[in-house]
Amino acid sequence: MNFPLRIAVHGGAGTMPKKLMSAETESLCHQALKQALTSGYAVMHAGGSAVDAVETAVKVLEDFPLFNAGKGAVFTNKGNHEMDASIMDGSNLACGAVSGVSHIKNPVQLARCVMDHSEHVFLLGKGAEEFAALHQVPMEDDTYFFTQLRYDQWQKALKKSITVLDHVDDKKFGTVGAVALDAQGNLAAATSTGGMTNKLFGRVGDSPIIGAGTYANNSSVAVSCTGHGEYFIRHVVAYDVHCLITYKGMSLEDATRYMVMEKLKSADADGGLIAIDHEGNIALPFNTPGMYRGFMRSPEDMFTGIYA
Ligand code: ASP
Repeated sequence: MNFPLRIAVHGGAGTMPKKLMSAETESLCHQALKQALTSGYAVMHAGGSAVDAVETAVKVLEDFPLFNAGKGAVFTNKGNHEMDASIMDGSNLACGAVSGVSHIKNPVQLARCVMDHSEHVFLLGKGAEEFAALHQVPMEDDTYFFTQLRYDQWQKALKKSITVLDHVDDKKFGTVGAVALDAQGNLAAATSTGGMTNKLFGRVGDSPIIGAGTYANNSSVAVSCTGHGEYFIRHVVAYDVHCLITYKGMSLEDATRYMVMEKLKSADADGGLIAIDHEGNIALPFNTPGMYRGFMRSPEDMFTGIYA
């Protein structure tokens, strides 16, 4: 049976207030989202898998300097970039994740490499970088990851001695992610982030944690989250969406709405998620004023949005 191709992407919940957003920046963000969607869709259209599609889409978003992942990742308290990423294949529950990695051009590619070429799921810091070198995963020096916007945000946070979630700063561009359904009915999800500006002590958010920021299972749903990572970890958000669908029989719409608009909101947790279920339904809920987001159901049916 041929399933309908579906892909959805996000560039973080919590968008810049509309009055601070120039028409040029807004259009650049739409372009990046569209490019991610069309690149991922093209992979599946050519017979590639949902896993290939989400990796491709996330790489496009990592390469776009305004989003907080890959090039454009935020600065840590020490003035470097420590990035997190994960990927999951819903057809067999295989997954790969990396955390606290520097110098990796596309952290999602390294997460994929961990999934495909190691017997492990999650590699950390220096070990993950050694593994990347072994598998010729492309690396860049610090200058590649530098952007003035992120440097200025870090300086501001340093002065106030605070750790800043992308969503809180005025100039908000976030974590990135993708979910997809391929023609064979396989679901996949991937998420990538620089985390929080001025983060301390090797902080890890939800994005690389399977079940919290990322989850995919062919029997139910593929989910990629964005928001205040500590809350997404506590509430095991991505896996909980799977549970609501699997054990409670909820629809994708009801399960994701309940999670984002009721459960997270009542915990004062800002954020959103993108999800596709095994029938090809798509949900993109967020409880913030906006979320960089989009989906594609066919070459004629593509949507990108920023504000509610
Ligand atoms: N969830 C990410 C983190 O806590 C941040 C984000 O989505 O913007 O690292």
